[in-house]
Amino acid sequence: MYMTITSEHVSGILTKDARPAAYCKSGDTVIFQTRDCYDDAVVSEERPLGDKADPIENPATGPLYVEDAAPGDVLKVEILDIRLRDWGVMRSSTMCGVFHEDFRERTARIFPFYEGGKGTEESYIRFDATLSLPLDPMIGVIGTAPAGEGITTDTPGNHGGNMDCKKIVKGSVLYLPVCVPGGLLSMGDLHALMGDGEVMICGLETAGEVTVRVTAVKGGAAALLPTPFLCCRGRVMTVQSAATLDEAGDLAAKAMKEFVKAALGKDDFEAGMLMSLLSDMAVCQVVDPLKTVRAEFPLEALSRCGYRLP
Ligand code: CA
Ligand code: CA
Repeated sequence: MYMTITSEHVSGILTKDARPAAYCKSGDTVIFQTRDCYDDAVVSEERPLGDKADPIENPATGPLYVEDAAPGDVLKVEILDIRLRDWGVMRSSTMCGVFHEDFRERTARIFPFYEGGKGTEESYIRFDATLSLPLDPMIGVIGTAPAGEGITTDTPGNHGGNMDCKKIVKGSVLYLPVCVPGGLLSMGDLHALMGDGEVMICGLETAGEVTVRVTAVKGGAAALLPTPFLCCRGRVMTVQSAATLDEAGDLAAKAMKEFVKAALGKDDFEAGMLMSLLSDMAVCQVVDPLKTVRAEFPLEALSRCGYRLP
């Protein structure tokens, strides 16, 4: 049985000052049990604010101290499995999100998950009498501790955090920076389904269990990776966050171009052409304190040139 970090170990901030919830070695497999982004407080549509006096926003489970991980390394996080509880919740906001002016009060909607019942990809919700939506479970918040000030779990950044990238799914491999000894990995804010942008303010919010294998990547192989870096379904991705989408997009494209240049031994013009020809840009989310954009590049093009991900 794998080591499990229960959902009692949650925080609303990723910080080097956090006491580790668990310790493991590089290469170990660990299970994170997570609460939903409302701190599991919203359980009925009649009480959209929930019953908790002081709920944590976006509670993240952890942190996990990886004993072999030292500053300068990269933490390879293989998402082996995501298992959800059997329902999700969405809530409108009068303050945040693209449509917040549409709402005078907060409204919640609870969606049971059907078939399979465990929130797997085969499960679905009945949005209404005619529309069923298949689930595609993903992780909204996943990050290591930054070297300086702690960063709250509503905000994405170079440490990962609230990236709300719908490509962080079962089978994905996420590379995060190790900024402090042990890395201090935390995660939470599972979504059963979310569209790029997360425009209203939330995904289909839920709780569950994530199984990950964590490995410390060292030396030149680590130095090459522009973290946060992701491999999902045959594509690698840089994930960058900034005050505006324009800035985030530039950062993501430039990070990928520098990676392509170094990994494949190309010059600026060649790497720039490959980016223009093969890279797809996509919006992860537009509703958090910083916006997040990813630049995708086909893994096959890297493989054909002899590059292998660590
Ligand atoms: Ca989120
Ligand atoms: Ca969320």
